Amino acid sequence: MSDLILVIDEGTTSTRAMVFQRDGGCVATAGAELTQHYPEPGRVEHDATEIWAKTLAVTRAVIDQVGGAEKIAAIGITNQRETIVFWDRETGQPLAPAIVWQDRRTATTCRALKEAGNEPMVQAKTGLLLDPYFSGSKIGWAMAHWDAVKTAGSRLAVGTVESWLIWKLTGGLHITDATNASRTALMAIGSGHWDDGLIELFGAPRSALPEIVDCAGRFGETRLFGAPIPICGIAGDQQAATIGQSCLQIGETKATFGTGAFVLSQAGPIPPTSRNRLLSTIAWQIDGRRAYALEGSVFVAGSLIKWLRDAVGLIGTAAETEALARSVPDNGGTFLVPALSGLGAPWWEPEARAAISGLSFSTGKAHIVRAALEAMAHQAHDLKTAFAADGVDWASVRIDGGMVANDWMAQDMADILGVNVERPKFAETTALGAAMLAGVGRGLFANLAEASAMRGHVETFTPHIAETTRTARLDGWRSAVQRVIAPD
Ligand code: ADP
Repeated sequence: MSDLILVIDEGTTSTRAMVFQRDGGCVATAGAELTQHYPEPGRVEHDATEIWAKTLAVTRAVIDQVGGAEKIAAIGITNQRETIVFWDRETGQPLAPAIVWQDRRTATTCRALKEAGNEPMVQAKTGLLLDPYFSGSKIGWAMAHWDAVKTAGSRLAVGTVESWLIWKLTGGLHITDATNASRTALMAIGSGHWDDGLIELFGAPRSALPEIVDCAGRFGETRLFGAPIPICGIAGDQQAATIGQSCLQIGETKATFGTGAFVLSQAGPIPPTSRNRLLSTIAWQIDGRRAYALEGSVFVAGSLIKWLRDAVGLIGTAAETEALARSVPDNGGTFLVPALSGLGAPWWEPEARAAISGLSFSTGKAHIVRAALEAMAHQAHDLKTAFAADGVDWASVRIDGGMVANDWMAQDMADILGVNVERPKFAETTALGAAMLAGVGRGLFANLAEASAMRGHVETFTPHIAETTRTARLDGWRSAVQRVIAPD
């Protein structure tokens, strides 16, 4: 049997395919950018047809690179979470745009549900909060506002992005894995089943939802590439990165800095309850047994750098932020609170807006760029405080995502967090985690601990900032955040 594992990593800004060997070596890779649609302020949409077409193209490309589908033992799928797709079971075509996780169109609905006293119940059942981030309110919005969705009746299928891709790959299998389901706000995370009360609360169509399955197993096969290939691993991107970073023991923590920043700590077999506005979520489900994680989700990370480049024109490339940050001795009193689409954990202020403060005539481009990078460590520090208050002290943090190519930012993270920051040499931990799950599902490994041999070497950044500098940075950040969330 061939032991190559193909991973489809469908992210927010790009869709990629990679092929891994059993030892973790990556032997083929292909990727394509995805178009972001911003129809109105606060709204973010994707075209599900484009997601599928580009995913199919990059998957074909890597299969060609390795010499054909018969070389592939299994497919693992990982995806941007919460983004929700609506399609027609008969035609297999989308009925509406996909509503992306960043979309805030349901802020009013969520606020009303919160004011009506629903949040404690939602948090107890789902581990989540009442925020537009999660899929439930987005599904309800589509059912109420889009005729094609509203009138589709029994033809309607609704699912997160992995469900959509699996439907297309298999020609009609409608499943989701427990990690993706745990982000919809429609699933009771203690039982692993859809919850009728939540479905009613958000106005979601029960019969359109997929069946919830494990993250590793044999879920069906695709015949689109010649020889049939089984789909054996599925997980949302942050859960896959947690696995790919080998956070398998309680307390082990990873922080991914991609479009947004997502910190997950392994919490073991009992769902944790946050008292500090963190999320409780499913890390994985294998053989019907669940492992949980405590999560802090920050909406704006790499997208801030992208915004500085594309909308403001302050920089030409993301990579140049590193030299700019190094070109000044400090931020010159400048703080940037990147609430471009509200503030996520631990603040959860969907209507907060970003601010750059402390500007003077001596402020230059480099100070603003440095303040933007510093905001990543500041946001991570807010999470570290919330995690500690929930009983999870980080002994170290394992970082990944597109932004951590920036050495200056990785060092700043260690300095501000005051713990060692580990960065794997192979940065594609999300894809690696999906490969590990698919390897377990296909029987190449007995369990995740065995599969974690796929993880390679790490570099370590150790804190070496003066305590007074660190305190001054954090004080400056705290007052900048206060101005954003309580402007008066
Ligand atoms: P996603 O998986 O969410 O699509 P990635 O993990 O690919 O995102 O990360 C891409 C993000 O990282 C982009 O928003 C980009 O602005 C940012 N980025 C890439 N390189 C750097 C760098 N050297 N310094 C800072 N930010 C960077």
